[in-house]
Amino acid sequence: MTEPTTGCAVRCSSLAVYCGNCDLLVGLDGLHVLEVVVAEEHLRVRVESPPGLMGCPTCGAVALSHGRREVELIDAPCFGRPVTVVWWKRTWSCSEPSCPVSVFTEQDEQVARPRGLLTTRACWWAVRQLRREHASVLGLARQLGTTWKTVWRSIKPLLEVMDADPARFDGVEILGVDEHVWHHVSPLKRGPKELTGMVKLTRDEKGNTRATLLDIVPGRSGTVYADWLKDRGDAFKAGVKIATLDPFRGYKNAIDDQLEDAVAVVDAFHIVKLGGQALDEVRRRVQQETLGHRGRKGDPLFGIRMIIRCGIERLTERQRPARRRHRR
Ligand SMILES: [Zn+2]
Ligand SMILES: [Zn+2]
Repeated sequence: MTEPTTGCAVRCSSLAVYCGNCDLLVGLDGLHVLEVVVAEEHLRVRVESPPGLMGCPTCGAVALSHGRREVELIDAPCFGRPVTVVWWKRTWSCSEPSCPVSVFTEQDEQVARPRGLLTTRACWWAVRQLRREHASVLGLARQLGTTWKTVWRSIKPLLEVMDADPARFDGVEILGVDEHVWHHVSPLKRGPKELTGMVKLTRDEKGNTRATLLDIVPGRSGTVYADWLKDRGDAFKAGVKIATLDPFRGYKNAIDDQLEDAVAVVDAFHIVKLGGQALDEVRRRVQQETLGHRGRKGDPLFGIRMIIRCGIERLTERQRPARRRHRR
């Protein structure tokens, strides 16, 4: 049974006062919820600022009400649905005849940039999803109920500001480098295929390695890496104690030239890869020596070719004795 005199529903629909529950749920500081409806799978949340005096941003004279204007903003998804905030903005005109400002609309950069299509928090939500959750721009566009272009245009300025901030280069003690190759993309449309990526490596409290991408530059050679290190300056280079590397791309020369005090180590991924390759070569050689032909179905070494490459902790109880039998 519903209680007719208290609760969100009654207060929301009466609109005599703003509803604290709805305002808390939506969480846009300075704005109050007027209405929530569902339209084509989107939650549409209508909001406004409370009435009050407004001063002209140029001359400071008291502004006169000039009516309202609806501005739609895509917000972060909520309860599994895309959200559109419909801000019923107040517009104003300046009361001072000599003032160059005629009509202006209320703005709040905490909520959204002027002419922005996404709310500020939706932009940061998207950036976090990209950085921490391996999201793609297309996946974010789906969750937000909008297009790839809209998401990218909205977050690009934030990413550029972050990219221009040198603070991420502070305190790097373990520096990693690796090549990256974009397959299946046209260099004409999407820029260079071959890139060198630099990562800051740290350990969390459980001892697991965490990698934070610092930069990506075109090309994959020792020269590219050496140039990047030169650009970082002496303080950065002196701070690096360990430099991990992909052993194949001449990065070692760059480390020797630019990071004299750092210890160069081949990164775990490439060590395991090299170890796996060596194991395969030995398996093929023994196969030839013992049976005189390439491994095929039914040959013992062929049957365990996957098992011997696998970490012991990943093998089942049945697989472990198979590996012990073939150890020699
Ligand atoms: Zn309410
Ligand atoms: Zn004015």
